[in-house]
Amino acid sequence: MEKILIADDIPANIKMIGEMLKGSYEVLVATNGERAIKLACECMPDLVLMDVMMPEVDGITACKRLKAVRETADIPVIFITASNEEEDIVKGFAAGGMDYITKPFNPTELHARIRTHLEIRNSRERLKKYSKELESINNELNEKNILLGGALEQITLLARTDQLTSLWNRNYMIEKCREEEVRFKRNKRPFCFILCDIDHFKKFNDTYGHECGDNVLRTVAGVMKGSVRDGDIVSRWGGEEFLMLLPETAVPDAAGIAERMRSQIAAYAMDYSNMPLKVTMTFGVAAYDEASGIGGSIKNADLALYEGKNSGRDRVVSFNLHQS
Ligand code: GH3
Ligand code: MG
Ligand code: MG
Repeated sequence: MEKILIADDIPANIKMIGEMLKGSYEVLVATNGERAIKLACECMPDLVLMDVMMPEVDGITACKRLKAVRETADIPVIFITASNEEEDIVKGFAAGGMDYITKPFNPTELHARIRTHLEIRNSRERLKKYSKELESINNELNEKNILLGGALEQITLLARTDQLTSLWNRNYMIEKCREEEVRFKRNKRPFCFILCDIDHFKKFNDTYGHECGDNVLRTVAGVMKGSVRDGDIVSRWGGEEFLMLLPETAVPDAAGIAERMRSQIAAYAMDYSNMPLKVTMTFGVAAYDEASGIGGSIKNADLALYEGKNSGRDRVVSFNLHQS
């Protein structure tokens, strides 16, 4: 049952209002302003019927004090006033009162006003509760969103990465090639491909097993990744074939980078189960050629690589567009 606090210094008034509310509400009474404040803080009534004129602490002051405390601020206060003087009414609203009722009043009107303000208060409480619930749902959603974002990033990275070597995979390389081609159309800055392949790789598998071949792949991948600039893309293009994309680079510089990689790999002290392995690679270099497109330009690098294989391996060959 909802609780109503009646604050009035005249016992006869309390009795009369109490009679009217009996059965519908639990009634608390206070005969002065000070007592009303104390009781409101202790019992948290759902509504206060506050006499304006009370000795010492009057109704207006008591209302102001209730409104000043966070716990009691939202308890609706209806003033009971003997006069219908405008000044009292204005003061009552200014003090935070919700409504006023002028003595003598009829029970129907009293009930109607109480009901209205209890409904308003209940609606406000419900809104507060929903807004708290919404806030916590929102926080939960934000947390989930952050987790999802992280998972998505991880999945995207996984989808772009070659599992054995941790280099970019073929799909991601194709994506980057397209981006670079778009950039070329805008700024005409040259970019290059280096296609390279491990020499006689099959013999590592055949002699020491697949595991040894995998180790060689991982090692050369690490060397290649370590010898390019940020922004260069190194990918595993096929089994033991790697494709590099070097933005804003012309053939002579790309050939220099390939040569550096070639000599690093040839000099690298690789071994498998304490057995030294002699690993070399052959490199084909080609610039992006607008007329050939991405596919044609990679084909050009492949032709250079093929020439390198045929002319003895462990070397860098650049494709010359004007000789083809
Ligand atoms: P070349 O100097 O002409 O390139 O000779 P090669 O032996 O390197 O070339 P070939 O194409 O004959 O052999 C490549 C081998 O690479 C065949 C294939 O089984 C092996 N291979 C492809 N992918 C992997 C892999 O992920 N792991 C291992 N261990 N071997 C692989
Ligand atoms: Mg090979
Ligand atoms: Mg091959």
